Amino acid sequence: MSRTAARQAAVKAAATYRSPAKPLNFKSEPATELFGCNVFSDAVMRARLPKTVYRQIRKVIEEGVKLDPACADVVASAMKDWAIEKGATHYSHVFYPLTGATAEKHDSFIVPEGSSCLTEFSGKFLIQGEPDGSSFPSGGLRVTFEARGYTIWDVTSPAYILENPNGTTLCIPTCFVSWKGEALDKKTPVLRSMNAVDAQARRVLKLLDPSKIPSRVSANAGPEQEFFLVDSNLIAERPDLMFCERALLGKFSAKGQQFEDHYFGAIPERVLAYMLEVERELYKLGIPMKTRHNEVAPAQFEFAPIFETANIATDHQQMTMVVMKRVANKYGMTALFHEKPFAGVNGSGKHVNWSIGNSTHGNLMDPGDSPHTNEQFLVFCAAIVRAVHIHGGLMRAAIASAANDHRLGANEAPPAIISVYLGDQLFDVFNQLKSGAAKSSKVGGTMEVGVPQIPALQKDPGDRNRTSPFAFCGNRFEFRAVGSGQTIAGPLVVLNTIMADSLSWVADQLEAGKKVADVLTEVANKHSAVIFNGNGYSKEWHEEAVRRGLKKLDTTPDALPEIITPAAIAMFAKFGVLNETETRSRYNIYCEQYNLRVKLEAKVVGEMVSTRVIPAVIRYQTELAQNAAALKAAGVEGSTCCLKKVSEQLTTLGMANKALSEKLASVPHDDDPIVEARYFKDVVLPQMLEVRKASDALEAVVADDLWPLPTYAEMLFIR
Ligand code: ADP
Ligand code: MG
Repeated sequence: MSRTAARQAAVKAAATYRSPAKPLNFKSEPATELFGCNVFSDAVMRARLPKTVYRQIRKVIEEGVKLDPACADVVASAMKDWAIEKGATHYSHVFYPLTGATAEKHDSFIVPEGSSCLTEFSGKFLIQGEPDGSSFPSGGLRVTFEARGYTIWDVTSPAYILENPNGTTLCIPTCFVSWKGEALDKKTPVLRSMNAVDAQARRVLKLLDPSKIPSRVSANAGPEQEFFLVDSNLIAERPDLMFCERALLGKFSAKGQQFEDHYFGAIPERVLAYMLEVERELYKLGIPMKTRHNEVAPAQFEFAPIFETANIATDHQQMTMVVMKRVANKYGMTALFHEKPFAGVNGSGKHVNWSIGNSTHGNLMDPGDSPHTNEQFLVFCAAIVRAVHIHGGLMRAAIASAANDHRLGANEAPPAIISVYLGDQLFDVFNQLKSGAAKSSKVGGTMEVGVPQIPALQKDPGDRNRTSPFAFCGNRFEFRAVGSGQTIAGPLVVLNTIMADSLSWVADQLEAGKKVADVLTEVANKHSAVIFNGNGYSKEWHEEAVRRGLKKLDTTPDALPEIITPAAIAMFAKFGVLNETETRSRYNIYCEQYNLRVKLEAKVVGEMVSTRVIPAVIRYQTELAQNAAALKAAGVEGSTCCLKKVSEQLTTLGMANKALSEKLASVPHDDDPIVEARYFKDVVLPQMLEVRKASDALEAVVADDLWPLPTYAEMLFIR
């Protein structure tokens, strides 16, 4: 089959798709019954563990005390029985390597016993596993011959059952560390950063009110997941989307998102069926999926869960992405988590809603009705404002990736400048704090709609701001700059650690005898520069931000060095989140990931042009030559579709592609991977754009029945 015939077949298959999936029935299987049925949850543990063991596990989870190994044997045995009742044959230590992916190694419960076999799962297997770590990036934490990597049970994140039509597996969330105990993963630092923010927050709470003993302060996260769905038949004809999740070529279609008719529109039937099945699978895993809707771009959608403690939210977010991908296949679609799969329409983010709080003091980010009198809130709010002002560069680095660079600052996503949006009410309180205590809080009031039948509305005291990278949302901050394909672990580690750092400073001040009011005034005066309530997309802000001394780190190679500034290294070490070697290893790995990503894209685009686009254009040239007389008679001589123009454009494309392969062949090598990254950014990426420009110009003129790649229109509008 020719490539053009393959494209036509793919379009036909996509347009006539009928789901073979068996319909679900939430009436016979209500969500409330499904929820958590595959989780070794607190309720399961209470029912199946001896009381003393259960209490010990609760203590480990709630108070962070050390686990007694004898306890693990009892838990392991109960877990195994539970899993086998659910049809499990294997168990798996699930871990989160620094690539941002989810990794799993499966082992069977079976041990031979004479001519038959038994099942076995001791505390030792539960607590510790040893996958060969050498194939995961370590960024210099290990040399190749030091292959050992251990997975260690994370007691705070519940085990669960992974279902497959042919059997089930017991999954145990784990930390992944090297033989020397250094974190090779994304989870370990999340746990350490949660401990850091807990310790410093409690220190401050005790200083604010010595009469009230604070319980453990937990960091919470609610990640909103934006994504695209594209029919898999079409993806199969697009190597760029298959390998890179991004259209590296492709002329923009006449219709895009200009009518704003997709956002919150009626969810297409196939997509809604998909969403219902995703939700069903997630409910079984105890993941509280709450919201679903169409997003701004055609073929773009969003899911959002209810927030949970940071560690569990992170694990659940990883599971959500895995389930979303898997279920999409079942519905003949591919879920794209790339931050900018289609240039020209909106990209995808993963807004991370973040707060800290505990059972004794409540949500520490809740301003209440009159924030100016809420000392506790003001202290915690001031601490985060200070943290963002000092460590904005690090926050930018935490969301840096080759893919997210295409989205940030594209007038649909926050700019690459980290600022804080506080809303009118808090902004006003902060301004008052500059000259002493705040005296008043603006109130929201009520709002009449002008239709007497419609009740008056209680207005929020602050509006929302969708152009800010870090926005206050009434009782939490929303880190809007996080990319859709990223794990939320990195951003959470940074938020928790910079918050711990600021709270520790506050505690130091108070311990030295400084008054709370003076600490607040100092923060308001020194750090208000980071507060910005206006339009983050505007050019004026970008200039103003630089004047205010905020960092404008447009690309990943600009941002990543922020990870290894002496201040960042010292802070991560001080709060026991990452030692210097661990921090440096992350810098190396993220640079490396950037380089690998751009290199892959450049290779894929080169191949697509050589093997698909150029042959199609040559065929079209032949047709034009054969029909020269007719074209002349039609008077199109000299227009873009005449042979001469097409030939010129083909030359431009050929030259651009040749230049790309030459540039790719002369990548500089240096011990510091940032050198390579800068080359990819400054030399390779712009050349890829040149290739794209030439190819897209040809797509506009070559006969559609010869064009070998599914078009934007086909990918974005067939569902
Ligand atoms: P929007 O799109 O308006 O920002 P969504 O409803 O899509 O809002 O998502 C809001 C997210 O914020 C949800 O995951 C929600 O559970 C979470 N959230 C709400 N309150 C808090 C809080 N105190 N801490 C952390 N996350 C929160
Ligand atoms: Mg949001």
